[in-house]
This record gives sequence, structure tokens and C-alpha cells, in this order.
Amino acid sequence: MPLSRWSRRHRRTFGDKPPEPEVFLEEHRTPPKPDYYYTNKKGQCRYCGGVIKNNKGLVNKRSSWHPECADEYMMIYHPGETRKRIWQRDGGVCAKCGELQPRKSRIHELKWHVDHIKPLWEQKGKKFDEIDLSYWKEDNLQTLCTKCHTEKTSREATTRAEMKREWWKHLNSSDKYVFDWTVGRLINGLVEIGLKK
Ligand SMILES: [Zn+2]
Ligand SMILES: [Zn+2]
Repeated sequence: MPLSRWSRRHRRTFGDKPPEPEVFLEEHRTPPKPDYYYTNKKGQCRYCGGVIKNNKGLVNKRSSWHPECADEYMMIYHPGETRKRIWQRDGGVCAKCGELQPRKSRIHELKWHVDHIKPLWEQKGKKFDEIDLSYWKEDNLQTLCTKCHTEKTSREATTRAEMKREWWKHLNSSDKYVFDWTVGRLINGLVEIGLKK
């Protein structure tokens, strides 16, 4: 069962909120939601789309989630829930240097981070069907202290800058490929902008 309570936001999902992006944008931190999430049909799971049955084997018209799907959904889409679970698992011990962090702190240096071991930017620009959800699951998450987290982030920034330079070389040699950061991969520029079939 989820460790946190269902928020009021859940009840407001079908109100007049602006539509959420279909592809994963890094600044959102959570992946796009499955189409089923938006089908408000009782008895159908909003995560996997499957039928929900009661213990008599009949469709349970009063429910919209399989318990295990609700669990996975909360873990992936609710950062607060994710933090609670990672705290329960790691107890604030940094996976890199082993230092113990306090559960809550207002001091920047003492804050602990839920770090994605395989970085999320590798999933950038993908739709729900293309996304590798394992990036958001427990095996890919670790506790890091601020210092170790900053180090990892800056190392990754260097890697990304190198990747970008590589792509630019490519661009100069063939003049038709561009590295599109919104989708995070190389696209054939002339085809994309309609100059070449
Ligand atoms: Zn389900
Ligand atoms: Zn550390």
C-alpha cells in the first residue's frame, strides 16, 4: 500500500487542468502518464487498463485501480511517496560515501537526494509507450548526500557536453544531421524540416 494519502489532486484530475505533455521533459521529473490514466471508467484500471474484479470475480465498478498498480503508480509519479520509500529502505545513508543524512533539514548541505542511477535525461523526448519505466523504479534509485549528488550531476554534465561536441562534428561532416535536445537524439535535419524526402 502507498505510504502517503491520496491527495486532493487525484480527485481534481478530471477538472479543467491544462493537458500534460505527451513526452518526457526533463524539468518534469516524472514520465508522461499512460492513456488509461485519462479514461475515467469505473472498473477499469487507470494504470494498466485492465479490468478490476472483486472477490466474486465480477467487475468491481467502485474501483479505478488495481492495488498493485496504485502502488507502482505512486512510486513513479509521486516524488513524496518515492522519498518516503527510499528513506524506509536506506535510512538516509549516502550510497557513495556512507554518511548518514538527517531525514529533514533546511540546511542545503544536509539535504539528501533521491538519485536516479541511470540518469533521467536518457529518457528525454519519449512518449509513455517508448519510455523505460525501470528508470523510475526502486532498483534505479539511491540515496546521495548533497556533496556526492553535486559531483555526480557535474560529471554527467561533462558527459553530455562531450556528446554534444561529437554530434556537432557529425553535423559539420555531413551538413544534414542535427542533434535535437528536445528529443535527445540525432535527427536528419533536412528531412525533419521538409527540404528532403
Ligand atoms: Zn492495473
Ligand atoms: Zn555522500
